[in-house]
Amino acid sequence: MRYFACSECQQQIFFAKTHCDTCGCRIGYSAKDQDLICFDEVEIEQWQPKKNNNLANQYFKPCYNYTHHQICNWVLAYDDNEIYCESCQLTYIIPPLDQPENIEYWRHLEKAKQRFLYLTQRLNIMPHPKKNDNDALGLRFNFLVPMNGQTVMTGHGKGIITLNAQEANVIYRETTRVNMGENYRTLLGHFRHESGHYYFYLIEKLRPDLLSEFRYYFGDERQDYAEALQRHYEYGPQENWQTNYISSYATAHPWEDWAETWAHYLHMMETLETAFYAGLAVNAQQGSLANLTMDECPIGAQNFEKILNSWVTLTFNLNALNRSMGLEDAYPFKLSEVIKGKLRFIHRHLLDLAF
Ligand SMILES: [Zn+2]
Ligand SMILES: [Zn+2]
Ligand SMILES: [Zn+2]
Repeated sequence: MRYFACSECQQQIFFAKTHCDTCGCRIGYSAKDQDLICFDEVEIEQWQPKKNNNLANQYFKPCYNYTHHQICNWVLAYDDNEIYCESCQLTYIIPPLDQPENIEYWRHLEKAKQRFLYLTQRLNIMPHPKKNDNDALGLRFNFLVPMNGQTVMTGHGKGIITLNAQEANVIYRETTRVNMGENYRTLLGHFRHESGHYYFYLIEKLRPDLLSEFRYYFGDERQDYAEALQRHYEYGPQENWQTNYISSYATAHPWEDWAETWAHYLHMMETLETAFYAGLAVNAQQGSLANLTMDECPIGAQNFEKILNSWVTLTFNLNALNRSMGLEDAYPFKLSEVIKGKLRFIHRHLLDLAF
């Protein structure tokens, strides 16, 4: 993610903040400006950027979900007809708010969704329009909690991403992760994975010419999905799956391989962007690792081989740092040559997904 600084005190501010930790000024994210802005409050729903933001004479309003639920930190132009920000407009169903824990779940879900959307915007593939405006191509999110003994399956279907809101509960999520034998499970990961299914749905609709190349890397997605999943849960992945797949789940079906690899591509691009804006450099001690010199922002960069090499060096050291803190590896994955080929496919065709 980009480096954001408070326009008043120059301290770094993080993406989800509503106030600067150092000087206390009010902050909101304007997706239109792709920036965190410091504001003076003229009225509850009329905010004026502080002078240092160079946005003189423009007024903004906070998203309805900030003023009414303190859920969101995005802002809209004051005269915008919408009351919800670009992110909240995509949320269609939220968990019932009469249960206090659901508000917390919803907050975590929106935070992860905003981070997912931030990157799609940086990559010029931000999903729009809303499904309400374009049923065939639009996107919407449903955050559901299991009720009356029914389960909620996280997944994607025809532009609708459904998430089991309980995934925002760390105990539930970690228990599920261990039970499923996974080594990585996060809310952000869910958004990135499910978005992979959405973008594939768009490819099928709008760019079917890409499918033969897709099948070369990921296999034939026309094979029966339900059968493939059942086989996966019954017999597990094939031996030495790590040579060809980024995760055990990716072995289940080409759709899941694509969604898992797509999520990894997004993890990679945002983390490298953060490293770039932090000015990180690594002088690799091992011959097998490349030096990490981030002289160019990975977003928009042409040289994908350099991005891949930087990612390997960065994640190796990220894991080493985590171990020093007694934590699990931040990136518990290995990129084989086959997997790199799949990531190259995604990079090559990324802008074909800018529908
Ligand atoms: Zn400040
Ligand atoms: Zn919002
Ligand atoms: Zn999936």
